[in-house]
Amino acid sequence: MAEIGKDIDKAKAILEKGGLVAIPTETVYGLAGNALNQDAVAKIFAVKSRPSFDPLILHTSDLERIHEFVSDIPEPLEKLALAFWPGPLTLLLPKKSVVPDLVTSGLDTVAVRVPDHPLTQSLLSALSFPLAAPSANPFGYISPTRASHVNDQLGEKIEYILDGGNCQVGLESTIVGMEDNQVMVYRLGGLDIGAIESIVGKVQVMAHSSSDPKSPGMLKSHYAPKKPFVLGDLEKLVPVYQKRGQKFALLSFRSAYPQLSVDYQVQLSPLGDLTEAAKKLFAAMRALDSLDVSVILSEQVPDVGLGKAINDRLRRAAAQEKEE
Ligand code: AMP
Ligand code: MG
Repeated sequence: MAEIGKDIDKAKAILEKGGLVAIPTETVYGLAGNALNQDAVAKIFAVKSRPSFDPLILHTSDLERIHEFVSDIPEPLEKLALAFWPGPLTLLLPKKSVVPDLVTSGLDTVAVRVPDHPLTQSLLSALSFPLAAPSANPFGYISPTRASHVNDQLGEKIEYILDGGNCQVGLESTIVGMEDNQVMVYRLGGLDIGAIESIVGKVQVMAHSSSDPKSPGMLKSHYAPKKPFVLGDLEKLVPVYQKRGQKFALLSFRSAYPQLSVDYQVQLSPLGDLTEAAKKLFAAMRALDSLDVSVILSEQVPDVGLGKAINDRLRRAAAQEKEE
């Protein structure tokens, strides 16, 4: 198992010798390595069993340092960076050659983000290089939102987990770029579209299911538990599975189901708060996935604001085809 702690100097020393450290962010925990060191980046892909066509996000301490790695920041994207960094926003920008092709899977754009977490901010400020940091989970599985999630699955493969507590947003970043002078959203995430549109006006959303290998975060099945995950109207699904005598667990937005033991159900937010639901989503999916049930039944949340990103993750969890 990995060592878990809050020692920034230790994390820095491991990263400086080309090793990997799991780091906390406000979105999910990342598996970090020196983005400018090919061997460290190759290790990230190996530890996650991530296919090399799935590009990584480059993390820095502030907007200023991004200029070392990108050749241009179009004005609308710069406005977004000024408004929302540090925060759950990733920008796709034209890359400079200093960024290894391995990081971007050979694409001429690089995904960049300034994460909002005090420990990781201090670490990034202390380092002379940016960190490549995809979510710290095996490829295709639910992203980790606390240190123990990382340890459960990757503990044997990494030296150190920087423990920053529970992730405050709990969903991956919203990925935004430009296409034909139009701001485009490629992945729904922790920054909701309304906030983005308040700065740059109406945007296009391309974040639908796709088999485009350039953007695996958009593939149909991702963020998925190991157990079958069925999405629908719980009032209808529950009696069907009860009649079949199949053992199931329930993931609901607000309502508790008194006919089922409390150990087998999670309400994401009894008060109906989408921010709370986002924060709890992945931990709830993991907890239900570890129960002795044969299926997890779930409902969607209201499709507004952050609810759109939550529903996106629920639909991908329920999709049949796995990415691998
Ligand atoms: P993760 O770090 O695991 O949350 O996911 C990173 C995701 O960002 C990838 O799966 C892609 O969908 C997206 N991404 C990263 N870099 C690029 C890029 N250069 N062009 C398009 N999408 C990218
Ligand atoms: Mg991921």
